[in-house]
Amino acid sequence: MNSATPRSARVLVLNAGSSTLKYAFFEEARLVESATLEMVGTTTIQKAVHSLCVRKTLLPIDIIAYRVVHGGVDLVSPVEVTSGVVEKLKATTHLAPLHQKPALEAIETAMTVVPKAFHAACFDTAFHATMPAEEKRLALPREMYDLGIRRFGFHGLSYESIVRQLPTLSVRAAQGRTVVCHLGNGASLCGMIGSQSKTTTMSFTPQDGLIMGTRAGRLDSGVILHLLQNNYSVQDVQQILTKKSGLLGISSVSSDMRELMRRSLEHFESHQAITMFCNSVAREIASAATFIGGLDALVFTAGIGENCEWVRSQVVKKLAWIGGELDEAKNQANATQLHSSSSSFEILRVATDEQSIIAEHARTIWNHAKSLATKHTDE
Ligand code: ADP
Repeated sequence: MNSATPRSARVLVLNAGSSTLKYAFFEEARLVESATLEMVGTTTIQKAVHSLCVRKTLLPIDIIAYRVVHGGVDLVSPVEVTSGVVEKLKATTHLAPLHQKPALEAIETAMTVVPKAFHAACFDTAFHATMPAEEKRLALPREMYDLGIRRFGFHGLSYESIVRQLPTLSVRAAQGRTVVCHLGNGASLCGMIGSQSKTTTMSFTPQDGLIMGTRAGRLDSGVILHLLQNNYSVQDVQQILTKKSGLLGISSVSSDMRELMRRSLEHFESHQAITMFCNSVAREIASAATFIGGLDALVFTAGIGENCEWVRSQVVKKLAWIGGELDEAKNQANATQLHSSSSSFEILRVATDEQSIIAEHARTIWNHAKSLATKHTDE
């Protein structure tokens, strides 16, 4: 491209999960198209990525930007994907198998199909760099930390998306002590002061913290030892912990909150799964609020947080003892401001938009790389 006649950067964002590929296509900051592709039948991440990369309406693609869940110890800010970066990501696959493997499949496919595009990776761990040193440490022997066994935290791109929106929604939430609850298939929450992460529920891997769709969340490590000592293989335990636990494990029928809500009146186990989920969220909100010294605002986001008024209502009822109260009419209506006039803290519902954040980061490092290249050419 002639640097004298810049045109809008055309950015394809790929967010590969265990059963879906979410994509979004931007011209500069303008979203042109987005969708979630289900990986069913013979559709694989590789096939889906390949067909997007050659789709005429998207060409030419300047930048392909990837959501990567785990950056490990080394990858703490958005980077251009090089073979060295791919190697580092491969070394972290076992830490987040549900996410890291499909992300790598997407990266390797797109880099093969569109080698001339600029490839950029953004990490969910990066947002939590502001946590105090004690929050990054597990209560294990000190040398474990040096081996990279640390509390990283995840969902950082979603938290960043919320933080960008807070100043226009509530100054108190943006500047004060705020707990943001990202409640989707994966679920975590983050205690922030002045929009910076101070504590979060996910830890070394995205397994820790809240009960999730198929993950148990906080779990006595003795359970894992017990299983391993009783003829369960490492693979069995991994399957149980990543794919068979959480809402699915408790209900025996589904990891999907909508399905559990439909069944909850006549199916005890579904009702119990929802109750345990709400208890888990309320308990961890109180824990995070204690850590950050109080609560000015509570934010709900992601599939369940944005859409399930019943879960929000149950969670906030459990926080009545610290003065939390919803305006139920606003809650039912899925409004943005959900608190009653007498609530001691604000309660907001904010839609997360990880894709826009990823596209923005990718454009920034692409422009930086281009200006460095121009500088070198001029010299
Ligand atoms: P992820 O991005 O982690 O795959 P999402 O943020 O899309 O997940 O959230 C998916 C979850 O949101 C599912 O459990 C789904 O049932 C739930 N969800 C979506 N819409 C609703 C709704 N209207 N009521 C209750 N739950 C909902």
